[in-house]
Amino acid sequence: MRLAYDYGTQKIEFEVIFRKRKTLSIEVEAPSIIRVIAPEGKTEEEILETVKGKSKWIVQKLFEIREMEYRKYNKEFVNGESFIYMGRNYSLQIVVDKSVKTPEAKLIRGKFVVSVENKDFGRIQLALENWYKDKAKEKIAERVAYYQSYFDQNPKRIVIKDQQKRWGSCTKDHQLLFNWKCIMAPSPVLDYIVVHEMCHMVYMNHSTEFWSLLKRILTDYESRKEWLRNNGIKYDL
Ligand SMILES: [Zn+2]
Repeated sequence: MRLAYDYGTQKIEFEVIFRKRKTLSIEVEAPSIIRVIAPEGKTEEEILETVKGKSKWIVQKLFEIREMEYRKYNKEFVNGESFIYMGRNYSLQIVVDKSVKTPEAKLIRGKFVVSVENKDFGRIQLALENWYKDKAKEKIAERVAYYQSYFDQNPKRIVIKDQQKRWGSCTKDHQLLFNWKCIMAPSPVLDYIVVHEMCHMVYMNHSTEFWSLLKRILTDYESRKEWLRNNGIKYDL
């Protein structure tokens, strides 16, 4: 079922999927894909009313996605351009070396040094992306281990993914999935993302219990969350 309504000058259109569940959730996947997972038996009016109440959040999400897509093509991968890692900027230095088979990025003395066969945009991007993914794997595993003492549940696996619109997720069998771009965030924000997903091993929702567990571990989580909301869109290659 598809429903739509007007919010200011914007038309918000969404797909409704019914499932056996208690709460309604909204997923904004792309500018044109909004999905509402509703409990079976909910009426059209009830769904519209709940979704309308979340309009501000939906509009913000749509804005973030558009911004992310725009920024994706905004990097040039040239000498001196800056790239962010754990909240700090590092400038790029490209070393062209014909003998290089696999492009490689390293962080040396405060600079991202990328060795490549030629200055091809895609190769430099790939080298940097691989570097970020390796770092994300290492750093996130370290942070999960750090916060493990707060939990009885152990993550089954930590997976680093290419996710466009999410920072992380947790599966029913406690696999923790993280977007490698998390590693661009300053460490308090990275910790928020990590602890948030770990709390989902206890509560598979965003209930009051979930947030109070998170607050017990990170008392100032609200400001970290807010920071991510305001700055997270900049994290891309
Ligand atoms: Zn969550």
